[in-house]
Amino acid sequence: MTKKILILPGDGIGPEIVAQAEKVLAFLINERGFDLEIEHGLLGGSAVDATGSPFPDETLNQAKSAAAILLGAVGGPKWESIERSIRPERGLLGIRSSLELFANLRPAVLFPQLAEASTLKEEVVSDLDIMFVRELTGGIYFGEPRGIKTLDDGQRQGFNTLVYSESEIERIARTAFDVASKRQGRVCSVDKANVLEATELWREVVSSVAKDYPDVELQHMYVDNAAMQLVRAPKQFDVIVTTNMFGDILSDLASMLTGSIGMLPSASLASDGSGMYEPSHGSAPDIAGQNIANPLATILSLSMLLRYSLSEVQAADQIEQAVSQVLSDGFRTKDIHSDGMNCVGTNEMGDAVVKALSSIVN
Ligand code: NAD
Repeated sequence: MTKKILILPGDGIGPEIVAQAEKVLAFLINERGFDLEIEHGLLGGSAVDATGSPFPDETLNQAKSAAAILLGAVGGPKWESIERSIRPERGLLGIRSSLELFANLRPAVLFPQLAEASTLKEEVVSDLDIMFVRELTGGIYFGEPRGIKTLDDGQRQGFNTLVYSESEIERIARTAFDVASKRQGRVCSVDKANVLEATELWREVVSSVAKDYPDVELQHMYVDNAAMQLVRAPKQFDVIVTTNMFGDILSDLASMLTGSIGMLPSASLASDGSGMYEPSHGSAPDIAGQNIANPLATILSLSMLLRYSLSEVQAADQIEQAVSQVLSDGFRTKDIHSDGMNCVGTNEMGDAVVKALSSIVN
C-alpha cells in the first residue's frame, strides 16, 4: 500500500533545506521505486499567514493520515509580537501533543571529517556518538497553570508548572532502555532530584523501569553535572534520557560538540511507530533565503524517517553513507567550512548528496 509522507517546510530556512531532502526522496521514488506519496502542508508562521492558525485543522488531518512527517523548522521575527496563542512555536507544540509524539530522539554524532569544526579538542570529541532521548509532550513546557498575572502590589509575575505523571516517565524510560539495548547498553538519566519533586519521582520511576532491562546499565546524574560532563568528557555517555526542558538545553549543547547544529537530525516518535522528523536547529531567519543553510540535518532526518517509521534500514544507511561521502569529498556549507574545503550552497550540497547516493546504490 502506498504510504503517505507529509512535508511541512515551515519558515525561514525551512523551505530551502526541506527541498534538498525532497530531492533525496524523489530519487528513492523515481530511481528506486519506493511506493511513497508526498503531500505538503502548513505549520508555523506560514500557516498563520495563510489561515490565521499556526496548526490548522487541515494540517492535523493530513498528519493523522501520514505514515511519517518531515518538518523544516518554524518561527521567526515576523511572528514574535503576535498574540502568544497563535505564535508559530505553538503550532509545533500543538502537532507534537496532538500526535502524542512523546519521545524525541536526537543523536549527537561527530562525523570524523568534521572533528576540526568542534570547539573542543579533537581527542575529546572524536568518535562521539550520544543518543539523547528527550521527553517531548510533558513537563514544564506543557504544565498548567501557566501565564503572566498581575499581583496585588501591581507588579507582574510569570509562572509555569513542572509536572510529570508516572506513566509519562515510564514510557520515555522504556524508549531509552530499548534504544540503549541496541547500542552500548548504558543509560544516563538526567534530573534535578535534589531540588525538584517532579524529578525526584522521575528518578524513582526510571530506576524501577531499569529492573526490566538487566543488560542495560543505569546511572543518574543531576542536570548541572551533566552539562559539565558533556563538555569535560562527552564520550562517557551512550544514551541520555531526560525531561523536556533539560533535553532541549543539553541536546543543543551537545550539538555544538559535533561542530554545527546544521548536522543534527531528530525524530519525534509516537507509541505506534509513526513520527515527525526534523533538524534539531530552528528556522535560522538570519540566513534564510541566502542559499547558505546546511541541509544535512534535514537529509539525515529523512534517513531517520526511513529507519524508524518505514523500516527501510538499507536506504537509511545509504543516505548516511552518502552524507559521509560528500564530507570526505570536501563539500562544506559555510557553517562547517574550513580551509582547503569546497564551500558550497544549500542547493549544491543537496545535489552532491543525491549524486553520492546514486553512486552508492548503483
Ligand atoms: P536557530 O537554530 O534557528 O539558529 C541558531 C544559529 O544557528 C543561527 O546563527 C543560525 O544561522 C544557525 N543555524 C541554524 N540552522 C542552521 C543550518 N541548517 N545551517 C547553518 N546555520 C544554521 O535558533 P534561534 O536563532 O534561536 O531561533 C530562530 C527561530 O527558530 C526562532 O523563531 C525560534 O523560535 C525558532 N526555532 C524553531 C525550532 C523548530 O522549528 N523546531 C527550534 C528552535 C528554534
